[in-house]
Amino acid sequence: MFDRIVLASNNAGKLKEFSALFAELGIAVHPQGEFDVPECPEPHHTFLENALEKARHASRVTGLPALADDSGICVEALAGAPGVQSARFAGEPKSDASNNALLLEKLAGEPNRRAWYYCVLVLVRHADDPQPIVADGVWYGEVIDSARGEGGFGYDPYFLLPGYGRTAAELDAGEKNRVSHRGQAVQALMAKLKALA
Ligand code: IMP
Repeated sequence: MFDRIVLASNNAGKLKEFSALFAELGIAVHPQGEFDVPECPEPHHTFLENALEKARHASRVTGLPALADDSGICVEALAGAPGVQSARFAGEPKSDASNNALLLEKLAGEPNRRAWYYCVLVLVRHADDPQPIVADGVWYGEVIDSARGEGGFGYDPYFLLPGYGRTAAELDAGEKNRVSHRGQAVQALMAKLKALA
């Protein structure tokens, strides 16, 4: 299929995680920073479009197959917001504390607390690939009013997992990775790639 890909991210944690998984398939993962890929705009309203844009951009600049991800939290009572704005819900500079405060403000008095994390992964073989490989994951929970737990990041301390009776911030990293939106998307992508190999 191919023996190396570029990861359309400079996040060291993501690079490590994807490198280990792709090593099983004999594929080396290079961060886009190695190739000086300029920042890619993410102007779209859907995670899928933004991930596709990032993957195509990295592939076009490097000439390599490229993998991109996009993720965030969607709240049912807010018509899916914060959605693609999750990282900057409360504006610049990015702040988890301000994002969570705004989310709780918007949900004040709202009985429907249903929410989900979403992650999509898009792999293009080349910049004009007519058939990108797409895998996603959804992780359901509900938004609570007071923070619980020290783990995770972002909205995790307010994201209660009804099946666990714990927030995402109360899971250890390994447990979260096995069941999270990102973990599910990675597993689905690996299954698709293994079927293609
Ligand atoms: P990115 O896709 O890594 O850029 O994440 C986008 C934003 O979505 C993050 O900055 C967080 O606000 C939110 N987000 C995505 N995944 C998680 C998660 O696992 N826990 C908490 N927040 C998340």
